[in-house]
Amino acid sequence: MALHPNAVKLGTPVILGVPFDANSSWLRGAAGAPPIIRVALNSISSNWWTETGVDLGVEGAFCDAGDLKFTFDEPFAAIERKVGELLDKGLRPVCLGGDHSITLPIVRAFGKHIPGLTILHFDAHPDLYDELEGNRLSHACPFARIMEEGAAKRLIQIGIRTMTAHQREQAKKFGVEVIEMRQLPVLDRMNVDGPIYISFDMDAFDPAFAPGISHREPGGMSVREAIAHIHTITGKIAGADIVEFNPAQDHTQITATVAAKLLKEILGKMILN
Ligand code: MN
Ligand code: MN
Repeated sequence: MALHPNAVKLGTPVILGVPFDANSSWLRGAAGAPPIIRVALNSISSNWWTETGVDLGVEGAFCDAGDLKFTFDEPFAAIERKVGELLDKGLRPVCLGGDHSITLPIVRAFGKHIPGLTILHFDAHPDLYDELEGNRLSHACPFARIMEEGAAKRLIQIGIRTMTAHQREQAKKFGVEVIEMRQLPVLDRMNVDGPIYISFDMDAFDPAFAPGISHREPGGMSVREAIAHIHTITGKIAGADIVEFNPAQDHTQITATVAAKLLKEILGKMILN
């Protein structure tokens, strides 16, 4: 599926690797994820059909813009510009992280192109810290910045199980709709008007299913629970990211397979909705 993004029709989902983990507060390694997710996606151990009946193996079903190359630019500026270019072409970017800090420049680009965005954010963590260890761009902070800047209209968080008093205050201040892990399943809450942006932190999964992450937080989603919620989303999906897969922690390579499965089902829903 190495179609050039210039040669595809409007609305086509386009994969973009964002190999950046410099804002990770604990372990590095997520920058290595994009090529490993691609290998798992292309593996002949499975086929190109999604569970929802979409054949991703058809020419032009989606395309791949490769991995973002960081040169002399400030990294967030480079990410925002590249995502903006893909949106200018009428494509629907699906970014593969990288740590979760990359969602800030990605959503900045979306906010400039697509008003009224609703973010569906799957995560063990609310990522709403005002700052962490002096870093306001930490992977623990992107949704505080997004809401301060008004880059999205609405933020719905799903799977949260690490709330702190500070982050509860932040959620209240920004009007974030927090659905904690202990409330799942909440399939009825996936009935959301578009445009929707899905930000999926791989640590939303229980670490038994996806151990290859930097912050293992037990008590999370099964692969089935996550996919059931993705499948139930009703509105049009403008874009997505899958972040925080850390191959250095993925000793059995199962997390790569889970990330590729999730990517397939998200691409299928983007094409269907
Ligand atoms: Mn997380
Ligand atoms: Mn996160």
